[in-house]
Amino acid sequence: MSFQAPKGTFDWLPPKSERILAVREALVAPARQAGYGYIETPTFEDTELFARGVGESTDIVSKEMYTFPDKAGRSLTLRPEGTAPVVRAVLQHGLHNGQLPVKLWYSGSQYRYERAQKGRYRHFWQVGAEALGAEDPALDAELIVLAAGGFAGLGLKKVTLLLNTLGDKVCRPVYRAALQEFLRGLDLDETTRQRIEINPLRVLDDKRPEVQAQLEGVPLVVDHLCAACKAYHEDVRALLSATGVAFTDDPRLVRGLDYYTRTTFEFVHGGLGSQSAVGGGGRYDGLSEMLGGPALPSVGWALGADRTFLAMEAEGLLEDAAASRVQVYGVALGDDARRRMFLLVDEVRRAGISADMSFGGKGLKGAMKGADRSGARFALILGERDLAAQAVQLKDLTTAEQTEVPLARVVDVLKGKCSDPHA
Ligand code: AMP
Repeated sequence: MSFQAPKGTFDWLPPKSERILAVREALVAPARQAGYGYIETPTFEDTELFARGVGESTDIVSKEMYTFPDKAGRSLTLRPEGTAPVVRAVLQHGLHNGQLPVKLWYSGSQYRYERAQKGRYRHFWQVGAEALGAEDPALDAELIVLAAGGFAGLGLKKVTLLLNTLGDKVCRPVYRAALQEFLRGLDLDETTRQRIEINPLRVLDDKRPEVQAQLEGVPLVVDHLCAACKAYHEDVRALLSATGVAFTDDPRLVRGLDYYTRTTFEFVHGGLGSQSAVGGGGRYDGLSEMLGGPALPSVGWALGADRTFLAMEAEGLLEDAAASRVQVYGVALGDDARRRMFLLVDEVRRAGISADMSFGGKGLKGAMKGADRSGARFALILGERDLAAQAVQLKDLTTAEQTEVPLARVVDVLKGKCSDPHA
């Protein structure tokens, strides 16, 4: 029996795998342009980092973590999200002692033991951006604008931004108590009743119709904001409006992670069915302190690369996915010609032109099939007679036009043709 990738995971294969690399890159391109620096953290961390940083009461920590002891008995966990590791790294290396805010971006795999379905995997990829150490509505707005720019840069049209605020340590506890009082009066199952006591905001997020039906008239955080939180939120909204980033106020938007305060947002896509969130984030002013650091008000987001890819498919943006692998393909006949072609292809690549060649001693027909499949624009054909004449046949595979070019000149000729898209 052959092996299969574990449940909830999948492989990225060519040609789609090239596109996912481009998607990840495009999503963070606006953040990089705004001066965010790249950070890479380990794929596993001390389990306690997530237990404290994400919160014991969350689904992620209580049900979804891949936790294991290492050989020395330490409890380690495959990272389920990127923010707690970034804050850990900032504190560990004292980055917060320099210029604030510290602006960082990352790109990496995340691991959650979720119920696997389309768009929801156990191993998935997020790109993220975080700005640590400043409490400024302009910073919240900047990050939202950068994320919106990432989706727009991919040509996505059906991404909607949902916006809310969760209050801060002054007004949130008052709201929490009002919410708990309301929820305790509802007809709910035992697990949900427990959730009211531990993490009542999450009940708002319960998708079941029998729960949603009872939430009519539920207290909303917007009606309980303190003056400072209200002003802050208005500033964020005004800045977004001024930059032309459309948003929908969603007073019931909460996020699955415990550490959010004030600004919260989510990007959803209309073509994805139930797993519609393509990204989300918000302000997490208390996280650094929860991890033993100083007060470090911060804001950030994570965008799901795999779901963004599905969104692009849904919008028909990936139809030319069979794009060419290389520009030039070498076909050589006979051992001497093959050896010479090996060197020629190397030379072509060094000149900055992508190139491949036929391997495995194929005849002309098989080798030309390889050239077609590669999607190359040009084939270089080298037979023993060409070799003796120190020349090579340059074939334009779109027009079937063939010309003989001296071996010594072929790289220059290709450079001219490959730099001109209309050649
Ligand atoms: P979160 O860290 O839960 O806020 O997730 C941020 C984004 O990551 C979501 O909006 C999704 O696009 C993506 N994401 C989260 N969980 C998964 C998953 N299990 N499979 C695929 N993408 C996910």
